[in-house]
Amino acid sequence: MGLWLKNVKPVGFHEAETRTSVAISDAGTVSDSPSPGDEILDARGLFLSPGWTDLHVHVWYGGTDFSVKPDLAGLKTGVTAMADAGSAGEATLHGLRKHIILRRPETIRAFVNIGSIGLVASNRVPELLDTRFVDVERTLTAIETNREIVCGVKVRASGAVVGDWGITPVRIAKRVAETAGLPLMVHVGEPPPRLDEIFALLTPGDIVTHCFNGTRGGAITRNTTVFEYARQLARTGVLMDVGHGAASYDSDVAARSIAAGLLPYSISTDLHVRNVDGPVYDLATTVSKLHAAGLEFKDCVNAVSTNPRRILGLPGVDGLTHGKRADFTLFALTARRKQVMDSEGNSVVLRKVFEPRFTILGNRCDRVEPSRSDRSG
Ligand SMILES: [Zn+2]
Repeated sequence: MGLWLKNVKPVGFHEAETRTSVAISDAGTVSDSPSPGDEILDARGLFLSPGWTDLHVHVWYGGTDFSVKPDLAGLKTGVTAMADAGSAGEATLHGLRKHIILRRPETIRAFVNIGSIGLVASNRVPELLDTRFVDVERTLTAIETNREIVCGVKVRASGAVVGDWGITPVRIAKRVAETAGLPLMVHVGEPPPRLDEIFALLTPGDIVTHCFNGTRGGAITRNTTVFEYARQLARTGVLMDVGHGAASYDSDVAARSIAAGLLPYSISTDLHVRNVDGPVYDLATTVSKLHAAGLEFKDCVNAVSTNPRRILGLPGVDGLTHGKRADFTLFALTARRKQVMDSEGNSVVLRKVFEPRFTILGNRCDRVEPSRSDRSG
């Protein structure tokens, strides 16, 4: 049975998109007109965007000690596509693929960690202790073997991970990414390495995750030279990704950057077991925080849908074209006051809250559950 979505407000698609209803065939593709007997969903008051896409999650449940079960990051939270950001290195990528990615309805891609063991024990046994932790040949082979699920290479470039090794792992990761023709996602935080050392290695299409972290010496707003460097990179096509996390989103850094014209390209959660019950909860709460930090509604929508979908090669602005696989999030923007926290313990007062209500992926339509941020406390 097909589905007819009525009274929708499309956002995030081609500028000229003015339709108010969308038909989905029983095969799960967008259709020009409804068929007799289609189920009708009256979506009055709801926006329809390309499926929300979380570019930084950890869902290698059972293969790492800190990943969440993927359903906590997926359809039930308004998200139809996600990228696992380096939970798996070359040694465990096949497991992530077999036990998670191929079993889930959501589209899942993986950034392969340049450290062979990935985040198996996350910060207890960091993945980049010394040269034995990287194997360039095996990483390139793992990428080739799993091409269709790999979206990039991940390196965690902060002091707690690389220690005395400094900038070298980023250099190696960049070479591997270049060789494989993939973007590099760099996690930034407290030095070493320094932000300017990292920035000097990036090229258009690479991704800086945790872009609004407030760590000591690691914030892009630390001084004007670093901030101007970040802004210049963003202008040339290096992509700023939020990656909220448990220690990587400072609402003040975000607000100052946005006010100065440095906008995030993508808004992501860095969801894992130590932040899923706060301060992150889910992508909806995260995008609401960025809206509170001054990011315009349309930029918010693009940053959780069109933009990250482009990185993953998924339909975005063209998602309403006849024949495309249906991949949408239906959501409300509700005016209500809600208090949440950033990663630094600062309270953030939301006055408009993004509330996903339905996800539509192929011929399935899932009702989104209330946010964990509204259930706890
Ligand atoms: Zn992460």
